[in-house]
Order: sequence, then structure tokens, then C-alpha cells
Amino acid sequence: MIVRAHRVVLPGGEQPAAVHVADGRITAVTAFDDVTGDVTTLAEDEVLLPGLVDSHVHVNEPGRTEWEGFASATRAAAAGGITTIVDMPLNSVPPTTTVDALAVKRAAALGQVSVDVAFWGGAVPGNADQLRPLLDAGVVGFKCFLLDSGVPEFPPLDDDGLLAALAELAPVDGLLIAHCEDEETIAAAPEPAGRSYAGFLASRPPAAEETAIARLVAAAAVTRARVHVVHLADADALPLLRRARADGVRVTVETCPHYLTFAADEVPDGDTSYKCCPPIREAAHREELWRALADGAVDLVVSDHSPCTPDLKRLDVGDFGLAWGGIAGLQVTLPAVWTGARTRGVPLSRVVELMSAAPAALAGLPTKGGIAVGKDADLVAFAPDARSTVGALEHRNPVTPYAGRELTGVVRRVWLGGQELDGGPPRGRLLDRGGSARVAP
Ligand SMILES: [Zn+2]
Repeated sequence: MIVRAHRVVLPGGEQPAAVHVADGRITAVTAFDDVTGDVTTLAEDEVLLPGLVDSHVHVNEPGRTEWEGFASATRAAAAGGITTIVDMPLNSVPPTTTVDALAVKRAAALGQVSVDVAFWGGAVPGNADQLRPLLDAGVVGFKCFLLDSGVPEFPPLDDDGLLAALAELAPVDGLLIAHCEDEETIAAAPEPAGRSYAGFLASRPPAAEETAIARLVAAAAVTRARVHVVHLADADALPLLRRARADGVRVTVETCPHYLTFAADEVPDGDTSYKCCPPIREAAHREELWRALADGAVDLVVSDHSPCTPDLKRLDVGDFGLAWGGIAGLQVTLPAVWTGARTRGVPLSRVVELMSAAPAALAGLPTKGGIAVGKDADLVAFAPDARSTVGALEHRNPVTPYAGRELTGVVRRVWLGGQELDGGPPRGRLLDRGGSARVAP
């Protein structure tokens, strides 16, 4: 099979090309006209992209399947051009903090995933001895919290716990990704006050991110382990991260579509669909994050899709203190980011790098993240100038701050392992560390 287009986003940039596929892998990338046999040619207004990789998705199954679930999350991912997700270890019950819990999660996922799925393990107090067995069992790395996670079964690490986890991971080059907000800084800030977004914003100040990032960076410097900051909202933390990297600390950082799309003064009071932690900050943070994406100071963009049932969002009272903190946006990640990128002159090839190659590299999935010989034939036909209004999505629950928003860029067709996704039975695979597929839990 061959898919060709006048615009193909390759690792070296955009050009006309034909992508040759056999047995699920890319076997050659040739000139547009260098083709014979079964050829699909994209429409004139479509660009061929590698399937996106989203390394930050809360699927919540088993245990809180009413919040999302593998079937609905992976259908949403596929509809959004995301062909690989990495599931977060918390909000599911059990959380993925032991080898047995990983097996439970895989058993829940098996047979119902429409895209490929890999798994993060969790680092919590007292499970340092589980980290290397979990790596051997196939997780791609570990997530931890540096403050209360919002669910009691996934407690945060203190500085001793952080050092213990990193000491386990450093000798095997394991990765620790961290939710960086500081409990004490937040305790000293005002309480979130009812329907006021400004009140909620004041309750989680930028200093909370900076203090926690400094703790993570210090622990990484001592242990020489690899760490990653998830969902950066505070652009004032960028100098600290730049300095750490210049000092040789192995730290990377991601941000999310909602921090790149919305700004605090646009959030209506009482509209808790916008509540997430850390919070959506002022427009100045958003614009500085965009500059950091363009110059490489931020490494990747992933959804942090973290839905819940509508009742937990407390839209009935609109109270930012009571509502669950998490934004649902998996399916619209690409058009949301592209809409912001094109107005700021960030090219599509850079967006693809941030949303495909970079998250694949973070999660250590070498067969993902690009259109190149030997990679999985995960491909997306994307119409970058087409517009759409966000309506019904494949997410299990409808609450999203993107509802009704007009976005630019439409995903038209998706291929997973060389087969076009057509709404038939789910054909996604469960991936181990390193990207190999498993056939059993
Ligand atoms: Zn998250």
C-alpha cells in the first residue's frame, strides 16, 4: 500500500512524497511519482502527517470508567489524529503502582482500544521497590505528584520519597514525570472562592509551580536521573528550567492545548469546565509559552485529557473550589494547537514535532513519532485550512471548555499500522516499554 500527498510532513520538513507500507511498517519514502500498485492520493487541501502521540491521557479505567474508559478515549484519540496514547497511572482503581495493578489495567484495556496504548507507572510513598519490576513489566516510566493528587489512593512524594524514587531509576535510565505544584505555597494562598475565576487563579499562584519545579530539579541534579515537568502553565518557570538544562540537569517540559488556547480573563465566572491544576493563567503566560515552543524551551504539547462525570464538575453551582480539576480535550488537541500556531506563524512541521516526535521520544517509543523507514505506518490526512465548530465528541462525557469553539484544521482520515480506521472493530495494540506490542495482559 502507498499513501502519497503533495504535502507530507517528514522529519526534515514538508515536501511532496509517497509513503510505502508493508506489514504495518513504513518500508520506503519516495518521490511523489515513484509509485506502482495500490496508491491512495490525498486531496489537494490535505497534508499527510505522522500519527500524533499523546503521552498524557487519563483513561480512568478500571475503577472510574464512568469518567472515560479505554473504548471512548481511544475512539476520541483516533478521531483527533492521535494514534498512540500513554495512559496515566492515577484516577484508575487500582492505580498503576504495582506489577499486579498493571496487569489489571492491561486486562481492562485489551480488545477495546482503537489506537495503540502504552502505560505510565506511578511512584508513590513506599513503592520504590516496585519501580524496576514495573519497568521490566513494560511501563514506559513513572508519574508522581509533589502535592495532593486529588485522589486518596495516589499520594504525593515528599523530598525523601522523590530522592528514593530517582535513586532507583537513575541506574537504569528510568524517567520520572512530575506534577509540579507546591503544597505549602498553595496553603499560604487564599482559598478558591465560589464562582470567581480570579479567586481560583489566586489560590494556585505561579510560585507554587516554580517552588515544586525547583524541588524536582534539585533532586534530579543530585541523582543525575531523568525527569520531566508535566503541564507547565507558568511561563515564569522557564528561566529556571533553562538554567537547569544549561547546568546539565536532565529535565524536559510539556505544556497543554488549554494553556495555549485560553487565558484567565476569558474564563467566565462559574464555568468550571475550565478548571484544571495548575490553572489557566493570564494571556502573558500563554504568549510566553508559545515563544518557548517556537524556540525549544518547551519540548512537547500533549492533552492532559482529564475528564470526569458532569456532576463532579459542579456546573450546577459553578464553584471552582468544589469542582473536579481536569480538562477534557483529547479529540481537539491538534486543531486547538494548530489554530493557535498558525495565527502566530508557527509552522505545521513544528506542531507535528511537538505533538508526535517529541512525545514519542519522551515515552521511549522508537517506532512512533515520524514518517520514516522502519516506523509504524500510523498516518493522518489533515486539512489545515478547513474549519470546524466543536460539537459532539467521542469522549464519554460531553463537558469541555472547547464546546462551540471554532477551530482551524480538520482530521479527515487516519491509518493505524497501515490500515485505515473505519469505525470497525478496535485494532489498537498494548505497547511495552520500547514500543513492542503484547498479545496478552
Ligand atoms: Zn494529568
